[in-house]
Amino acid sequence: MTWPASVRDNLKPRTSHTPMIQPVSCPICAKVLAPTASDSACFPFCSIRCKQIDLSRWLDGKYAVVEDLSPDRLAMEFMEPEDLPPEE
Ligand SMILES: [Zn+2]
Repeated sequence: MTWPASVRDNLKPRTSHTPMIQPVSCPICAKVLAPTASDSACFPFCSIRCKQIDLSRWLDGKYAVVEDLSPDRLAMEFMEPEDLPPEE
């Protein structure tokens, strides 16, 4: 069976000439990352700070989407003074 040239072209994987670049945004602060950010050690986060925030949330078992991040709020997220149970 011989396929028409137009069909064969459609079956070809689309490669380099039309790269699919999907914008990636930081899961923590929603900052849009540069295409080169995937080379970063903190990818897919915009910074080491956001990566650490995400990690600390998972460890605390209270992961949640945060709309508004301020430096004061970040400090509170890290400190968590109220959650430590007394050891007896
Ligand atoms: Zn971020």
